[in-house]
Amino acid sequence: PLVLGIESSCDETGVGIVRGRTLLTNTVASSMDEHAKYGGVVPEVAARAHADAMVPVLQQALADAGVTLDEIDAISVTAGPGLAGALMVGVGAAKALSQATNKPLYGVNHLVGHVAADLLREDADAIEFPAIALLVSGGHTSLIRVNSLSGDSEMLGETIDDAAGEAFDKVARVLGLPYPGGPHIDRVAADGDAAAFKFPRGLSRASDHARGHRYNFSFSGLKTSVARVIEGFEDRDETVPVADIAASFREAVVDVLITKALAACADTGIPRLLLGGGVAANGRLREVAAERCAEAGVSLHIPPLSLCTDNGAMIAALGAELVRAGHAPSSLSFPADSTLPMTCAEISGTANS
Ligand code: ATP
Ligand code: MG
Ligand code: FE
Repeated sequence: PLVLGIESSCDETGVGIVRGRTLLTNTVASSMDEHAKYGGVVPEVAARAHADAMVPVLQQALADAGVTLDEIDAISVTAGPGLAGALMVGVGAAKALSQATNKPLYGVNHLVGHVAADLLREDADAIEFPAIALLVSGGHTSLIRVNSLSGDSEMLGETIDDAAGEAFDKVARVLGLPYPGGPHIDRVAADGDAAAFKFPRGLSRASDHARGHRYNFSFSGLKTSVARVIEGFEDRDETVPVADIAASFREAVVDVLITKALAACADTGIPRLLLGGGVAANGRLREVAAERCAEAGVSLHIPPLSLCTDNGAMIAALGAELVRAGHAPSSLSFPADSTLPMTCAEISGTANS
């Protein structure tokens, strides 16, 4: 099916168009620059920026893909989770478009969408289910057993404090790097020594596992440990070794993410790992995941770089899976749900119910 996907959960206004598992176009406008000076996304500013960008981004995507609205088979839109005001702009636009064109509308889960970005790779047809998915984004760090992308999934574990992307953003800030921090840490870490500092790997001890944290994550201790090391250099009036700290921090995050994901693969006997979310753009994470999955005999799927952070193409890809699986469209009265849990691919309330 030819599916148009709309994304507006945070600061990216995205429209993507796919034909089945083939990407036709992915158009993204970001209001990131407007938030950078506040060190984080300002919800009201983001919502307003979506309202300004939505129609131009939609027109650009259709032009780039060389398709008309008439040819589209279905529309999908991020129903949640995300910032309430931001979500409402995309959901409102999608409902209006669906109503005006008489095309079916699917309200989908943004987090499952991050994982569905893996379907837009050339080797996607080789992906088998069930699979273990590791979602690492600005707001989430979750390990999930995915039975099928269009169906149900089971939460194995998640962060008990900061998300992985949030940890990158907070550590970047104390290192004096711009927001969002992930790409900047990646850049400066390239010249650093990852073994310079031994930072903590949260919830990785046997006693943590005994307390039920085998698949949970914690990054706040790591963040505090980095801040202490920086303070130490400052107190001694020494130059802060930014590259070494960035590299050692990144190594700690990557190590704990991949160790836990591979433990989930081993324990469940599912030798397939799907990565998704903005942190999956991290160069070191991609490298370590490839090495350690190969050693463990686990097949690894990571989205192309441009589809790791928020975009409409991943939402279109998930919509196409729902169409393929014969799901009924959503009713036009579904709400934007800022806390939609990751275990449901599609928002409840279908047109037939
Ligand atoms: P969620 O999907 O949980 O609602 P979000 O949509 O804000 O959150 P994403 O767009 O998936 O999050 O990802 C943004 C996050 O990814 C930011 O925290 C950013 O720092 C991080 N990120 C982006 N590129 C990299 C990178 N190369 N290395 C590490 N982190 C990165
Ligand atoms: Mg963003
Ligand atoms: Fe996201």
